[in-house]
Amino acid sequence: MREIFRHRDSVKVGLYQSILEEAQIVCFIKNSLTQQRAAGSEFDPVLCVQYDEDSGRALQILAAHEAMDQPAGKEWICPACKEPVPGELGKCWSCERERLEV
Ligand SMILES: [Zn+2]
Repeated sequence: MREIFRHRDSVKVGLYQSILEEAQIVCFIKNSLTQQRAAGSEFDPVLCVQYDEDSGRALQILAAHEAMDQPAGKEWICPACKEPVPGELGKCWSCERERLEV
């Protein structure tokens, strides 16, 4: 067993658990809400993998998910040349036309 993710928000921990389960990784949450109430203490919920050898893969999957979660900005279409431009760019990479604010 190995702890791989700890977060105050049990919803997020639960979401990550379902992501790992989808990837066929056996995992569970320690300090779930009911356990917290029973213990009367405030532990953050912790996501754990059953098998240590899964932890590397599990961390990779969660890191990839975190990266996707970042608001990188939506891709936009250049009005001049119709090229798709990544959201973080302020002007078209192809023809350098300024981005028009919507
Ligand atoms: Zn363009």
